[in-house]
Amino acid sequence: MATKRQKAYQDVLHREPKHVEYDGKLSDLFGQNVFHVDVMREYLPSETYKYMMESIQNGSQLDRKNADQVASAMKDWSISKGATHYTHWFQPLTGATAEKHDAFLKPIGPGKAIERFDGDMLVQQEPDASSFPNGGIRNTFEARGYTAWDPSSPAFVIGKTLCIPTIFLSYTGESLDYKMPLLRALNAVDIAASDVCQYFDKNVTKVIATLGWEQEYFLIDQALFNARPDLMLTGRALFGHAPAKGQQLEDHYFGSIPERVNAFMREFEIESLKLGIPVTTRHNEVAPNQFECAPIFEECNLANDHNLLLMDVMEKTARKHNFRVLLHEKPFAGVNGSGKHNNWSLSTNTGVNLLAPGKNPKSNLQFLTFFVNTIKAIHDNADLLRAAIASAGNDHRLGANEAPPAIISAFIGSQLSGLLDDLEVNVKAGKMTPEAKTELKLNIGKIPQILLDNTDRNRTSPFAFTGNKFEFRAVGSSANCGSAMIVLNTIMAKQLKDFKKTVDARIEKGDGKDEAILKELQVLIKQSKKIRFEGNGYGEEWVREAEKRGLSNFKDTPRALQVWHDKKIAQLFEEMGVLLPRELEARREIEFENYVLKIQIESRLMGDIIQNYFIPAAVEYQNKLILNVQGLISVLGDKSGREASKAQLTLIERISLHINKMKSSSDAMLEQRKLANKMEDTEHKAFAYCDNVKSHFDEIRYHADKLELLVDDELWPLPKFRELLFTR
Ligand code: ADP
Ligand code: MG
Repeated sequence: MATKRQKAYQDVLHREPKHVEYDGKLSDLFGQNVFHVDVMREYLPSETYKYMMESIQNGSQLDRKNADQVASAMKDWSISKGATHYTHWFQPLTGATAEKHDAFLKPIGPGKAIERFDGDMLVQQEPDASSFPNGGIRNTFEARGYTAWDPSSPAFVIGKTLCIPTIFLSYTGESLDYKMPLLRALNAVDIAASDVCQYFDKNVTKVIATLGWEQEYFLIDQALFNARPDLMLTGRALFGHAPAKGQQLEDHYFGSIPERVNAFMREFEIESLKLGIPVTTRHNEVAPNQFECAPIFEECNLANDHNLLLMDVMEKTARKHNFRVLLHEKPFAGVNGSGKHNNWSLSTNTGVNLLAPGKNPKSNLQFLTFFVNTIKAIHDNADLLRAAIASAGNDHRLGANEAPPAIISAFIGSQLSGLLDDLEVNVKAGKMTPEAKTELKLNIGKIPQILLDNTDRNRTSPFAFTGNKFEFRAVGSSANCGSAMIVLNTIMAKQLKDFKKTVDARIEKGDGKDEAILKELQVLIKQSKKIRFEGNGYGEEWVREAEKRGLSNFKDTPRALQVWHDKKIAQLFEEMGVLLPRELEARREIEFENYVLKIQIESRLMGDIIQNYFIPAAVEYQNKLILNVQGLISVLGDKSGREASKAQLTLIERISLHINKMKSSSDAMLEQRKLANKMEDTEHKAFAYCDNVKSHFDEIRYHADKLELLVDDELWPLPKFRELLFTR
């Protein structure tokens, strides 16, 4: 009888690409299912439209009458798109998005009903929220959290449902999601950056953060996926020997995209475009069956909503094509993992990218100001940034010689390094001479040219300047970008606020404006020097060098999360109006809880798989060998029979050895798990899971993977890496 694995493999061999029927222009699809500004203009009374635009701009609340108008317009528009239900779409701290659907339907008498959706339903909803993580903020007896409309992100229709982007709060008003603190951080950076912009251009009244993410993922055939309980339950292969051919040849990268994959990509891109997600780029990634999708950057909150939406659309579309998407950071040991680069910048209402050098010395000084302040913010808050990207999945990836190390540093390229070094020595204390000023201005004037030549991209840096934006590369592929973006925008807001204060003080004391700015930049350059690193971030030397510099290197999530205990962090978040101490505490608790749950599931599953899959297969094969040896001995006699069975006898022994070691490691792990589970304190538990439970994974896996190599291929129960990675 064929194993599940063999049956699955047969299915795959008969797959055909499923092309979508659409011959029109892509631009015709764009935003089709979005309640965007043009639709609002068409559906809303002009007065309400005006209020709505204000609300989008400054996050102000609509009054009851106008909210009713908007709700009614949304209802009519979405029904015209086929919607029958609506949902508040939100981002709980589990990482995924959540929704609870309600029908528009309202009975109005015997056998009669109408479609109803009013302002109250638009503005607020109470999902049964008791099952979402709350970090102790909500006791289960007052389990009612609620969701509240975020008018700055447009509603959209998926299938037959109108989805309304919302924030998620506890009954007592604390945030329980990523969106609310992100909106607050974006507001903080808007205020601080707009203030600093006044030095350069009085017309600046608003600064938005921009985010362009690049989503990496693996695509695996559904039948093979279903034959692997580890992929199904944890999103990563807990076992599996590296294939004879891995990514050594690097022939996958930018190779032609396989037909079946192409059909899948086209469909999910079409669906994404209808939702207003400006996806443009697709290509193969380094590992086999690994791909990337990137849109054009957008305002940060919208971009993040779009990333979450895209992950959802990808998963749904993949199933239609008999694929499964793996968003885990490290599905396969031995081949590259997946990240989600976060390209980030700041942009003004006057259309200026503050991290792009301009055409004249003045705009270049503005560029330099934001550039240097970013580096200083990274320097002061490197540990916080590290914590923002910490997760059980990302732990496998950071520092694994394919992704940035767990050490946070910033790469800016040799030209800009040279310029900062110059500024550091050439800005003199006291009044500057006119000659010195002229020279500095000349130097600053040269920035655009130098950047033009700045082609030396360093792929090994976690935080790299790439000409007109910074690229935060350490974010995990499954993460909600909100986590990283909350921190980045908050620390930037704080840095800019402090900068403004100091420069103003210098001006008050008699420095000219440019001079005051330059002198303060010089101070910041000096203070933040140790965070700048231009070399190879994957090398061992960097680990030693970073240690000498006093930079942290947190290798696992529980240790990375320790920074949340720092009182200064609580002050920072409170000062910037992003998170209250109680919200911060809850978040920390939830992060530890998430970590424990992930490792707990992996650990249990490892035990199950070796017990129910590997040991039976190995024993079956061993019995075959034993029969063979017995047969040889009975035919050839004891001495010659043994002589002839040498290889088989060694195999029999090796199989026993690996079974025993694998099982005893797994038993030891089980004991540790029992101890950990008894712990009351979530943080202690997380450390116990990290140091005493997860620490057995490698040993168990080592023996299991050895067995995979020893046991008859016909008997091995789980699809192997070569099947998972090279079939499509
Ligand atoms: P790669 O990193 O793969 O070489 P690119 O350098 O071309 O790719 O840029 C990748 C991403 O950077 C794109 O998603 C793009 O939208 C984004 N990006 C470009 N400019 C900005 C900006 N000002 N703010 C945020 N993201 C940006
Ligand atoms: Mg990139």
